[in-house]
Formats: sequence, C-alpha cells, structure tokens
Amino acid sequence: MSFVLQGTGVSGGIAIGRAHLISHAHLEVSHYNLPQKLIPAEIARFEAAVAATREELEALRESIPADSPAEFGAFLNLHLMILADSTLSQVPQQIIESQHCNAEWALKQQMANLLAQFDRIEDSYLRERKADVVQVVERVLKVLLGQKQQQPQSRDQGSILVAHDLSPADVILLKELQCSAFITDLGGTTSHTTIVARSLNIPSIVALHNARSLIRDNDLLIIDGTRGAVIVDPDKAVLAEYKLLQEQWELEKQKLKRIKSTRSSTLDGTQVHLHANIELPQDVKQVRESGAAGIGLFRSEFLFLNRATLPGEDEQFEFYRQVVQEMKGLPVTIRTLDLGADKHLNGTTRVSANPALGLRAIRLCLAEPQVFRTQLRAILRASHYGKLRILIPMLSSSSELNQTLALIEQAKQSLDAENIPYDKGVEVGGMVEIPAAALALPLFMQKLDFLSIGTNDLIQYTLAIDRADDSVAHLYDPLHPAVLHLVSHVIRSANQAGVPVAVCGEMAGDAELTRMLLGFGLREFSMHPANLLTVKQQVLKSSVSEVAAITQKMLKTDEPEKIRALLNRLNA
Ligand code: PEP
Ligand code: MG
Repeated sequence: MSFVLQGTGVSGGIAIGRAHLISHAHLEVSHYNLPQKLIPAEIARFEAAVAATREELEALRESIPADSPAEFGAFLNLHLMILADSTLSQVPQQIIESQHCNAEWALKQQMANLLAQFDRIEDSYLRERKADVVQVVERVLKVLLGQKQQQPQSRDQGSILVAHDLSPADVILLKELQCSAFITDLGGTTSHTTIVARSLNIPSIVALHNARSLIRDNDLLIIDGTRGAVIVDPDKAVLAEYKLLQEQWELEKQKLKRIKSTRSSTLDGTQVHLHANIELPQDVKQVRESGAAGIGLFRSEFLFLNRATLPGEDEQFEFYRQVVQEMKGLPVTIRTLDLGADKHLNGTTRVSANPALGLRAIRLCLAEPQVFRTQLRAILRASHYGKLRILIPMLSSSSELNQTLALIEQAKQSLDAENIPYDKGVEVGGMVEIPAAALALPLFMQKLDFLSIGTNDLIQYTLAIDRADDSVAHLYDPLHPAVLHLVSHVIRSANQAGVPVAVCGEMAGDAELTRMLLGFGLREFSMHPANLLTVKQQVLKSSVSEVAAITQKMLKTDEPEKIRALLNRLNA
C-alpha cells in the first residue's frame, strides 16, 4: 500500500531506492542483583566494555577517508570525549558497587541521570548533544551484551537508510558505501546528523517520527529531500513522475556548474554579490567550488563547540588566518561569537527561562569581555593576511554598539603596543536580526561600516516564534507582511544612506525569494554554498526594473494570499 510520510527536509534532491532498516539500538536491558563477591568481576567487565568501545571509535576515526568532511573527525572526538568522561566511565562503577547491580543496568541508570540534566539545558545546540550521549551508551551496551555494531553492509550501495536515529559514525560509512539517501525519525535542524547530512549533499529527511516503524526492509521508497516527503511503495505513475524529476534535478545540477565563473549580474546589468556562509575553516573548499565572491558569514562559534577547553588567541588566529588566506583576497566576514548559553565559557550553567531572549551573542561577549577580547585580537591579527571584516551579532541598542566598538579599539591598541600588525582599516558591521535594530537603523548606520540582515532571527523575534521549537514551526513565515516590511525597510534605508547591506539568513539562499529581494534593492546575498549557483541562475534570469513593480505591490498588501500570488507572478 502506498503512503506518504512528512518530515523536515535537510538536504535537497530526489532519491529512489530500496529501504534498508538500520536496527534501533537496544536500550532495554535486564536488571539483576549480584552477590558482593562478584562485584569486582562485574566492574572489570564494565571497564573492558568501555575499553573495547574506545578501540572501536579510534579504529573508526582511523578509517575516515581523507576527503571526508572535517566534521566526521570532530564527531568521533566528541564521542571519545563523552566516553572518557568520568560521568560515563566511573560513575556506573560506583553504581555497581553501591547497588550490587549488573553493569548494563548501572550504565542505563547513569544515562537516565545525564539525560535529565541535559533536559534542563536551555541552549538547543547543547541539548541536542543528548543524542551523542545516547549513541555512546548504545555502543558500550552492545559490547556488554556481546553484540557487534551493526554496520551498513555492501548491499546498502544505492539503497536508502531508514533509522530511528543515525550517529555521525554511521554516516561516515554511508559516504563510503554511497548510499543514495537517508531518513531518520529523530533529529533537529542543528543536530550533528543534520549538519553532516548537509555536507554529504545527498537527499535526507529528519524528524519523520514513525518512519522506522512504518517502513519495512526492502520497501521501495522515493525521498524528496527538498519537500521533506517520503513516498513509500509508490504506484507506477508516481514512480515515473519522480524518475523524470530526478533526471531533471541531476541535469540541472550539472548545468549549474557552467555558470560558476559567469559574472553575477541581472539581465539589465546590475551586479549582485553572492557570498557564502560557513561554519568551519574546512568549508572553504566548498565555497571555492561554488564560485562565491567571498564569505559573508563565518559562524565562528562553531570553533568553540565540541571541545573541553576554549580555543586560545593563537589557535583562533590560525583558524581565521587559514580561511582568509585560502580565500585569496576575497572578503571574509567573521561573525564574533554567537553562543546562546555560557556553559562552555566558564563551566557554569546560567538557567534562563527564555534563552533566545537571554544572554546570547554580543550580550554574552560583553558579559565575558576577556573571552571577547581574545577573539577580537585573534580576528584583528588575521586581518593582516587578506580582506577581513568583523560582524557583530544580535545588536539591539546603541550602548551595546558603543561598548563593542570600544573593545575593538582597545584590542587594536593592545596590538599596537606589541607591534603586531593588523589591517587598520578593518571594517566593522552589525547584524540586523532584532526588530529594534531594524526600526532604529540610523543609530547603527552612523557607526557601522556595513549591515547584514539575519532573517532567521529577525523572523523569530518579529513573529515571536522560537525557531527551534517544532510545535510552532508551521507559523514561522518569511513571507509574513511584518517580516517583508522590516527587510525591505532595512535594505532601502541602508541603500539611501550608502551603507552596504547584505542578507545572510536562510532567505538569501532560497531561490524563490531572490527576485523579491532584488526588488527590495538587495545587491548582496550570503548563503550556504550548496545554494549559491541556484540563486545565481535566478539572478542571471532577472531584470531589476521588471521585478521592482511587483515587489512594491507585495509591500502594499497585508493579505498572505495576495503576497503569495504576487510572489508566484514574480517567479513566473
Ligand atoms: C540569522 O539569524 O539569520 C543568521 C544568519 O544567524 P544564525 O542563523 O546563525 O542565528
Ligand atoms: Mg542569527
């Protein structure tokens, strides 16, 4: 029987293949009591299982192909770190001793304790690391239970992996086996699996909830990664239609490569700058392959995650310098830390009822000036090696801006005092992602060299919708009239004042919105490199003079249906 499952598409494209179910690791373990004399042997059994798991992870790390995305190694390091932590390697031994229970039961109890602690963490990125703890515990349990890790077999070539959840280590193997797609029941938009999925560039869908229980091994599946849809057991007509769509998609991808070096300008000759967003220095390779004119957003906080200690000034400087040098003179915009919680910074958790409205991004940096100073010095030092710009996230008031500029000045003076070179003309820009900043723009434009609109957060704060909360995801609407008014207002005001302005949120990478943004006056877009050529193609086919009339109409109506109809006309 044919049916459709809907999830969150995290990597576009179409795959057609047979389902291969990856068994959901067993966390159900028996509980039994042991006499005192068997306790030392049980502890030894636990220690041996931890050691075997460590060896397994290390062997996996060794087997990573050289051309794999750098995140793979980082994930395995994270799993090794979790395994080595005393909360997992020592505490279960104490539980065995105090409760006289078997090792599996002790480990499972300790996992439950840890997960309860994770639930109290406000930051969504850190909360999602819960999945990593579960994956590590599963590995140890499997060793204790005498099971071998289930690895995808060679028959998985071209097949579609269906899992309750996939660990990053599993995904490494998928790359080698060239699976055509994977889908999971769990996973959020910032989970490790999602991050790796994007870097693999194969269609993938997460948050399907029931895929693992509804799909049977060998079922024929169509994965539409763009729409987040899984069609199980499709009939002949649907299959034929998707085969055609798949061919078109592949052809389109190939054709797109031809415009990589084409000058990015509209039919009526307006130049449009297309930049890329990156998370890690290793992403520069993909940026260069996309033909981007620069990096419009380097989310530097990713360098601070998945590690026990903060990167110091020299280490950060090397990261930033590497990116700047590899971009060979093209502009690199480094956003200063946008961390949502300060646990990584000082080892303490400040619980906030509304973390998105709490001590985040520049607010956190101003509250932790030593951390901020270290980053600013590292960024400034790297500015000597190419074209670098500094971008400040989440600005909402002039006092924040003044404090930030003063700290940048201090960092420059400290470098001067030590005779360390940096670009004296380094530009400082601000992200417009809080409605207050969008509405009080002159405050910011007076003192900043450029602006970048963070539409992801601007939508979140304008519509009061937590962008990480699944239950309100359907209300998150880039085409809401209030959002369109704010975005167009910022672009128009910046253009009038002669201040360069970009959009670096997801709206910039959505080709359906390219013409609308061009009509609003936008001339600089920054997006994930995988989207760049699709957006470029749209730019090449557009005429600014033609789109402006329709986008003006879009701003004159508040009715969602009319806005949608006008957008369709714009893209017709
Ligand atoms: C944004 O908010 O649009 C943005 C680009 O920043 P981030 O997604 O990292 O919050
Ligand atoms: Mg943001």
